[in-house]
Amino acid sequence: GLTGRLQSVFSKLRGKGKVSEDDVNEAMREVRLALLEADVNFKVVKDFVAKVKEKAIGKEVMESFTPGMVIIDIVNKELTELMGGSQAKLAKANKPPTVIMMAGLQGAGKTTTSGKLAKLLQKGNHRPLLVAGDIYRPAAIKQLQVLGEQIKAPVFSLGDKTSPVEIAKQGLQHAKDNNLDYVIIDTAGRLHIDEDLMEELKQIHAAVNPDEVLLVVDAMTGQDAVNVADSFNKQLELTGVVLTKLDGDTRGGAALSVKAVTGCPIKFAALGEKIDALEPFHPERMASRILGMGDMLSLIEKAQANIDADKAKEMERKMRNAEFTFDDFLEQMDQVKKLGPIDQILDMLPGMNKAKGMKDLKVDDKQMGRVEAIVKSMTRQEKSQPEIINHNRRKRIAAGSGTSLAEVNRLIKQFDEMRRMMKQFSGMMGGFGGGGGKS
Ligand code: GDP
Ligand code: MG
Repeated sequence: GLTGRLQSVFSKLRGKGKVSEDDVNEAMREVRLALLEADVNFKVVKDFVAKVKEKAIGKEVMESFTPGMVIIDIVNKELTELMGGSQAKLAKANKPPTVIMMAGLQGAGKTTTSGKLAKLLQKGNHRPLLVAGDIYRPAAIKQLQVLGEQIKAPVFSLGDKTSPVEIAKQGLQHAKDNNLDYVIIDTAGRLHIDEDLMEELKQIHAAVNPDEVLLVVDAMTGQDAVNVADSFNKQLELTGVVLTKLDGDTRGGAALSVKAVTGCPIKFAALGEKIDALEPFHPERMASRILGMGDMLSLIEKAQANIDADKAKEMERKMRNAEFTFDDFLEQMDQVKKLGPIDQILDMLPGMNKAKGMKDLKVDDKQMGRVEAIVKSMTRQEKSQPEIINHNRRKRIAAGSGTSLAEVNRLIKQFDEMRRMMKQFSGMMGGFGGGGGKS
């Protein structure tokens, strides 16, 4: 899938201390292929790759500590932008009720989504009314009524003999009369877009003047979904898109193209058949899901909240100048400990899960005590110039700290690993904009 392919592109970049223009070009060629294969619109892909390249080839990136990480961050941010940047919220009428009209092809998930949306609104203490506007599909009315019963939301229906336009009008009046603050109008779909379908939707639109026209599209259909969205949008003024069936084996193309092609934001994502499988769409979360970097991005967030930004900068400076000492080592261990279990952190850090020796570094409190004792048995010169700690000095330190030579040896080895890890870690902080500060 897309995530796997992108991950393999990035794992090549990630460990690199230096990234050349060729590396970037090569990576972007692979990103381009991965996106095309995921059925992302061709023009969207072209623009996307051009944007990322322009930013990635900048001097700052090339000279940063961990250019690979910075490039991943650029891709992440551009993917987020592509999907609208920030969350697009549901409109709200100045004077209730807020009228939401659903549109879309048959089988896209309009009726199911109507029920889910009603449930979501109920959770926000609203009183939605479901309006059964699909009079053509057998059992469509019943389907909506069953959903309504399930969530105890009223369903307005006039059977299948009254026109959908009339049903919508009377439904709206019913909501007003009963103090219901949202009206969700389910409509009919066709297997293909046709004149009749559009005409009926336009008439409903004119009759109730909806605050939202949500196009429901099946994400599994990839580019087709985007084409459908485009044609609907040309005839009806859509205010948002609901992507359904994101729980299935979607290639991601629809989510990535629909906003760029139609200009219409994705407002909700449906991830299953169950009534509560609908959530507001968050472009940044979708981007990190596509990149398969949820864990890593959350680690970065955590680190930014917990790590003192000034101290981190100072550490970074020290490491640049190879001034990182055993005192710093102790302090860094303390900081890392705040982030959670060390093995989890190592798993999330790029390249670190492969660092030899790091896995043995169990930072529990008891261990920390012994490490502290060893460091305290070092002279000032030894702490700041670890390379002078020869065999005799190690024996002395072991005796002085009440530990063993093997433990001292291991710690010094781990110190070297830690130095490497911290170099990467602080570079990452810098690369990701840092600035978190202590919270
Ligand atoms: P409509 O014709 O547009 O009203 O589509 P329906 O609401 O009747 O849904 C068509 C089918 O898609 C039904 O079997 C739904 O259960 C299913 N469906 C809708 N949304 C989702 C979703 O997010 N995930 C999955 N897996 N199935 C969905
Ligand atoms: Mg339906």
